[in-house]
Amino acid sequence: MQRLIRKVASFFVKGQGQSPIFNSEPKVVPRNKHNISRGQIDKAALDVLYGLKRAGYEAYLVGGAVRDLLLGLEPKDFDIVTNAEPEQIKAVFRQRCRLIGRRFRLAHVHFGRSVIEVATFRGAGDAAKLPVARKKTSHSRAVDASGRLVRDNVYGSIDEDIWRRDFTVNSLYYNIRDFSIIDYSGALEDIKKGQMRLIGDPETRYREDPVRMIRAIRFAAKLGFDIEAKTKKPLYEMGHLLKDVSNARMFEEVLKLFHSGVAIDVFEKLRHFGLFTYLFPQTHHVLSEEEQGFPRMLVVEALKSTDERIQSGKGVNPSFLFAAMLWEPMLQRREQHLAEGLTHQDALYAAANDVIEQQISSTSIPKRFSTQIREIWSLQFRLPRRAGARAQRLFEHPRFRAAYDFLGLRVAVGESSDQELFDWWTEYQKKDAIDQVAFANDVRSEAKKTRKPRRGRNPYRKRSSSNPAE
Ligand code: ATP
Ligand code: MG
Repeated sequence: MQRLIRKVASFFVKGQGQSPIFNSEPKVVPRNKHNISRGQIDKAALDVLYGLKRAGYEAYLVGGAVRDLLLGLEPKDFDIVTNAEPEQIKAVFRQRCRLIGRRFRLAHVHFGRSVIEVATFRGAGDAAKLPVARKKTSHSRAVDASGRLVRDNVYGSIDEDIWRRDFTVNSLYYNIRDFSIIDYSGALEDIKKGQMRLIGDPETRYREDPVRMIRAIRFAAKLGFDIEAKTKKPLYEMGHLLKDVSNARMFEEVLKLFHSGVAIDVFEKLRHFGLFTYLFPQTHHVLSEEEQGFPRMLVVEALKSTDERIQSGKGVNPSFLFAAMLWEPMLQRREQHLAEGLTHQDALYAAANDVIEQQISSTSIPKRFSTQIREIWSLQFRLPRRAGARAQRLFEHPRFRAAYDFLGLRVAVGESSDQELFDWWTEYQKKDAIDQVAFANDVRSEAKKTRKPRRGRNPYRKRSSSNPAE
């Protein structure tokens, strides 16, 4: 044990002049000295904790749930950590349990619709000394050439596990054996101070996993915490490492960032630290050309409305966020294609393709969402053409509501002068089906009155099929 503590401590003593921030003796807060009660813990999580305990293992609630309960917030999920290895967890929960992950092996325990994630304590080690993974490496813990942790399957004990947690405030353990809270990292003090502090040498930890940079932003915004100076400094310098993170993981992280209920604050912080450009490079580009113009106002308005929806418990759709972020880059590409002589529809189609394709090198966009983004965009050009039966067809479009809301944003920030059009659709939705028909027919007669006769128009011309939304 003594050897282990020395090994763990040396990890930090050697880390670029970083002094160890932990005592090897943790602070233990007994049940009567903290405010977390079992009543606040998800029933399925409690079942897992007790199941492991009954089978003779150690089991702790860890991470965000302990942090949030201490702060009086509602946890998003309940993560559990144990000294049981994945196969042993499987033996306890049998068919309820599925083992997942290669890079990081975990157990998922299923209770009806909830899934509780159970990890085994990870062993510690100096990441700077880890073997560099080759293609078919057999090492259970390894980094790649840039110091990124590519595998972490060495198991250990609680006092080693602590070192692989990211921020001190995420490293508290709630012990199901006696309901105490265990603090190895000064987390309770940091919670009191309201600060995010990385465990260990910040540069090494960001190199191991660059996503920790955007996690710092997310938690700082969500908790209203400051980022401690040493944890903050590399954020200005190491953002480029985010380029090495898989685009699928980046997509997930973008959703967590902007669907956190504090998206405005997240956005400002990402911009402040120069990290936004690694998430939405094209948006970053148009924003830096014109700091105070419509593009920025539209993004801010979209994020505000996302925050409001989250805070009032309404659902949010990733495609709306991406449609807003990429709207201006898409419009600019569309202008270029129009100048090249493409038709309106083809220019829109080509611009949407260009912009989405380019975005995918930063964050993936699953197909169902990219389809929806295109639909929201294309409906912006179709909503004005609403006379007669068209109104009904548009109204029944699965993306109508998102497109209508999007038009509302554009009108609100003054990017579109279609206030009247927006009001018309607002009215339309309040009417019953019969009145809707009459209302849309009125548009037709208005249009007829004002339309100039077109020469040479063939009334039997087929309808164009090149509209991307049809
Ligand atoms: P949330 O409120 O978003 O659920 P969380 O802190 O619970 O926040 P999770 O992503 O659910 O975050 O992860 C659970 C715990 O696992 C974290 O609290 C942290 O201790 C650890 N963890 C997660 N991701 C990382 C990471 N990239 N690096 C180090 N530790 C991590
Ligand atoms: Mg969590």
